[in-house]
Amino acid sequence: MRTGKQPKPAGACSVCHGLTRRREILNHRCDRVVNGRRCYGTFKSAMTYLWDQCDSCEGTGKVGTGICGECAGFGWKMYG
Ligand SMILES: [Zn+2]
Ligand SMILES: [Zn+2]
Repeated sequence: MRTGKQPKPAGACSVCHGLTRRREILNHRCDRVVNGRRCYGTFKSAMTYLWDQCDSCEGTGKVGTGICGECAGFGWKMYG
């Protein structure tokens, strides 16, 4: 069974490139912890970046019954 394609993320961190769907955290500091340290990046609007649909899940965010590991279920990856 195919699920629909995911909409583009709302934004992404400028440093760790973590994606988010929460518009309210745009321009706020990233809350991811990488190697035990809080990321120093800031979430920027998706408009700032170029996007590629994820090949592994064809933009659906799912592979079989699981979440796509390539895009963490977003269905999109930052270009480049
Ligand atoms: Zn980050
Ligand atoms: Zn994917």
